Amino acid sequence: MGIFSRFLPKRKPVEIKNNVPKEKEEIRKTFGVYCHSHHNTSGSKLCPKCTALLTTVMTKISRCPYGITKPICERCDRPCFGTKQTKEFRSIMQSTQKKMFLRHPILAFKHKMKSWGVDYAKHEQEKKQAAKAKARSKK
Ligand SMILES: [Zn+2]
Repeated sequence: MGIFSRFLPKRKPVEIKNNVPKEKEEIRKTFGVYCHSHHNTSGSKLCPKCTALLTTVMTKISRCPYGITKPICERCDRPCFGTKQTKEFRSIMQSTQKKMFLRHPILAFKHKMKSWGVDYAKHEQEKKQAAKAKARSKK
């Protein structure tokens, strides 16, 4: 395969989209919805615990090793928030998903699409790896 790939046309450069500001907005809104309904806060204020977690998340996103084309943090294989905070973050994002669809339907839908995109990419990668393993075992 290595020999043939040299003759294949080179891939066109893909336009790089900066997903970070959008994701930050989604996370901030999700935290707002979650904190308002669970911790009796309102407006743009969050309780100290949610504020602390959100601050960590925002800082880490800005320093994401994947850069601006990063996958969504919820689905990252190498989440960098630390075990405990990643768990809290994921449970907030997941438990608030339904409410987000009611309050911010378009935003929530786009976020869901990104999550499906991650599933699809993973599925394709697994398929490729399985095919490779198969080819190897034939030799
Ligand atoms: Zn809270």
